[in-house]
Amino acid sequence: MRLSFLFFSITLFTLISCGQKTKNTEQTYNFKLSDKEWQKKLSLEQYNVLRKSGTESPFTGKFWDNKKEGTYSCAGCEQKLFLSNTKFKSGTGWPSFYTFIENGIAIGTDNDLGYSRNEVHCANCGGHLGHVFEDGPEPTGLRYCINSVSLQFKEK
Ligand SMILES: [Zn+2]
Repeated sequence: MRLSFLFFSITLFTLISCGQKTKNTEQTYNFKLSDKEWQKKLSLEQYNVLRKSGTESPFTGKFWDNKKEGTYSCAGCEQKLFLSNTKFKSGTGWPSFYTFIENGIAIGTDNDLGYSRNEVHCANCGGHLGHVFEDGPEPTGLRYCINSVSLQFKEK
C-alpha cells in the first residue's frame, strides 16, 4: 500500500516536472519584470502559461470559441498579437489563428515533448503563448495554437 503510494507520487512528480520545464535561455525584451513582479501581476494560471510555458486544458479557456470581432493582446504586457479576422475554427479547443499582427510575436523552439515544436512568444515581454504548426488553412498554411489564458480580448 505504502509502496504503491510512493510510486504514484514519483510518477506524478515526474509528469509535473516534465510539463513545466523552464527555459535557461534568457533573452532581452522591452517589457521586463522580475519573477516576483510577474507572480504579483498575473493570476496563477496566467503565470504558469506565460512564464512557465504551461498549457491550459483544451476547451476550457475563454477564447477558443470566441467569435466576436476585435483584437487579442498579451495578458502580460498588452502587446497586440492577433486579429479576430485571422482566427479560425480548428477543433482543437484552443484559439487558433493563421497569422499574427506584425512584430507581435517571436518564434522559438522547445523540446518539451521530445521533439521540436515551434514555440510562440510575445515579442514584447517574452511570455509563452503557444505553438505554431504547419497544418493551418490558406493563405499561410500555419496554425498558431494559443492558450486563452495568455490572451486578453478587446471587442471592436
Ligand atoms: Zn507580452
